[in-house]
Amino acid sequence: MISHPPSSTDAPPPERATFDPVSNADWETLRALGHRMLDDLMDAQRALPDTPVWQPVPAPGAALFAQPGPTSGIGALEAYEQFRTHVLPYGLGNWHPRFFGWVQGNGTPLAMLADMLASGMNPHLGGFNHAPAMLERQVIAWFTEWFGLSGASGLFVTGGTMANVHALACARVTVASRLGRDVRQHGVQSWPGEQPMAPMVFYGSRETHGWAHKAAEWLGLGDRAFRQVPTSGDGFTVDVAAVGAMIEADRVAGLLPFCVVGTAGTVNTGATDDLPALADLCARESLWFHVDGAFGALAALSPLVRNQVRGMERADSLAFDLHKWGSMPFECACVLVSDATAHHAAFANTASYLTPSSRGPTAGGMYFNERGLDLTRGFKALKVWMQLQADGVEHFGRVITQNVLQVRDLVQRIDAHPELERLAPAPLNIVCFRYRPPGRREQWSRPGALDALNRELLATLQERGTALPSSTTIGDQFAIRVAHVNHRTTDADIATLVDAIVALGRELSHASRA
Ligand SMILES: *Cc1c(COP(=O)(O)O)cnc(C)c1O
Repeated sequence: MISHPPSSTDAPPPERATFDPVSNADWETLRALGHRMLDDLMDAQRALPDTPVWQPVPAPGAALFAQPGPTSGIGALEAYEQFRTHVLPYGLGNWHPRFFGWVQGNGTPLAMLADMLASGMNPHLGGFNHAPAMLERQVIAWFTEWFGLSGASGLFVTGGTMANVHALACARVTVASRLGRDVRQHGVQSWPGEQPMAPMVFYGSRETHGWAHKAAEWLGLGDRAFRQVPTSGDGFTVDVAAVGAMIEADRVAGLLPFCVVGTAGTVNTGATDDLPALADLCARESLWFHVDGAFGALAALSPLVRNQVRGMERADSLAFDLHKWGSMPFECACVLVSDATAHHAAFANTASYLTPSSRGPTAGGMYFNERGLDLTRGFKALKVWMQLQADGVEHFGRVITQNVLQVRDLVQRIDAHPELERLAPAPLNIVCFRYRPPGRREQWSRPGALDALNRELLATLQERGTALPSSTTIGDQFAIRVAHVNHRTTDADIATLVDAIVALGRELSHASRA
């Protein structure tokens, strides 16, 4: 007999490729791993107060993150071990009770579990007829009620930036269309044979968040189209009269104003523009009134500070995050548009493969896809819905009230301390301040001396992992900035923060004197 090497037809059939466990034993192994992950995450969250807020990634982790992509795998257990060893302890620290940087929320244990449910079920939230879509519509409707915008249309998006950009895109299409101009068809370009298009411009104070620049550029308006208005005497809220004057001058100059942005809770200091006055102005001038309430809108849930964001309910559109003061894990934000028809008209699109029918799973069509840019969307609304079902909206308000009271306590400690200097009003949940050493006035009055000292102080504080505020510039002064959306902070944590800053300030200023 002639022997020959086995041909491919003799090879055993390959195992079916799937990402599911194959045998019962495999399922049980993964289940056990899942339970361990859950235990580890719960343990890590409970232990947070006793861990550094931040610590640098050690060399082995850095080496792991430089490795090339795996051709074959190491198995789920090993992969998890890598996460547990090299990732979990080395986050930025925003889940920690003494994290006060930028405006980053903590997340919650329940929302973490809800995210797992959302991922496990993995529904597609483009629209159509299923419970997850009904749930998202319900959460949106709840917020329209709580924010005084009942009847508004809404959409969950990744963040405040996207929510604001969607609102501005909607404003642009809607206002242009009132003037007989089809921006969806023609863009903002001047086409041959057509009347040249006046540049469309919108307004916001100098304290408006950086999304406005991105939006102006991304929507093809150009950064020049974002007209930055001076702040009023307080230095932190928009000068409403100046907005009116700029609009008038711009019209004379041949520009086409379409929108005014008011901020509920500015990122620098937590100030809120005079929203009722801006609403009046927009009504008079037939302009779209957009409110950026990234974190500040949620102040409406707290009886203590609700008044500060009054006027928000008159917005044509409102952007707010749930991953900041709503404590939801990233990413989670929402845009509301008070005229649901305008919202739909700004983004509606038709594609044969998305054709709705009046019955079955496709009933209703892709309505979420027709409220924004995303087609495939995840089930972000579930965590919000579940936390709200579990605790009620009043509890969200209690967390916000608690944060404001803790910030008021911090302000008192700063104002009472001869070595601390507050640099701006702190109406809501943000405080900007610095350390100023006692005595030796001439040394610290040199230009830049206090900035340098406080820069050094902040970097050292962050690196030691005691607490993690961030920074900003107030006027031309470097400020340590505490932005408080942390539901884990205790009153003792606020005291620790102040003590650590004063101790470090003394340590560093003595060192620099030596
Ligand atoms: C954080 C913030 C934004 C941007 O929101 P993201 O969720 O980070 O995209 C916009 N405006 C204000 C006032 C903010 O504080």
